[in-house]
Amino acid sequence: MRTVKDIEEILAGFAPFDMQMSFDNSGFCIGDESAAVTGIMLCEDVTPSVVDEAVAKGCNLIISHHPVIFCGIKTLCSAKDRMRYAVVSKMIKRGIAQISMHTNVDICAGGTNDTLAGMLGVNVASGEGEALRIGALDKPTTLEKFAAKVRDILSDETVRYVGAPGREIRKVAVSTGAGGRESELIYRLQDEGVDVLVTAEVKHNVALEARYAGVAIVETTHYSSERCIVDIIGAALDKHNIDYHKSETEENPYRRA
Ligand SMILES: [Zn+2]
Repeated sequence: MRTVKDIEEILAGFAPFDMQMSFDNSGFCIGDESAAVTGIMLCEDVTPSVVDEAVAKGCNLIISHHPVIFCGIKTLCSAKDRMRYAVVSKMIKRGIAQISMHTNVDICAGGTNDTLAGMLGVNVASGEGEALRIGALDKPTTLEKFAAKVRDILSDETVRYVGAPGREIRKVAVSTGAGGRESELIYRLQDEGVDVLVTAEVKHNVALEARYAGVAIVETTHYSSERCIVDIIGAALDKHNIDYHKSETEENPYRRA
């Protein structure tokens, strides 16, 4: 039977952990690396419901996109760290290990950004080595139609956009997760002649800068932009004939009004 360490090495073969960004905490995070793996659960986020699902399905290893522990923590107590305490305490009691495949998979070939670009019909031309991809559509379309396509492909009714509905869209940038927090990205895309950025968590000032710069934004939810992670990791495990479950309990926290 494979150990947690064995699975970690297989995952590193797909997306080396040293590719991760400086602020990140990808990799083995919780548990006993020498434990024999009885079952694997794939998810985007380790929530209490995902831990319960792992227990119910006999999984003692959770491979998530987002790290459970992201930055240095000084406490892990039920009052101050409510959800994290619920997750980590249950994982340790139940002997469940956790590995996260985060920015190493946002960056790597065939990772979240490549996958999202592919889903949207973007022929990737640049962005290798970054948590971003830029490329062109086969045929130009309008912003309104492109935003509707993003909504439908990601099954995310909350998708909204910045820019004139009839604006022509050909050159597209995608940045999965919270790519809408820095105006610098908008300036760079403007300089590169990008028509639209598909991302999540767009700050108000970034939306205003983008409108002024003439770079459209299609904003999806963080969850929807990265849920492809379970398929990506699943495919990497398939190559080694390793069984897994994709979480069926996790869901987008946002709903359309
Ligand atoms: Zn993310």
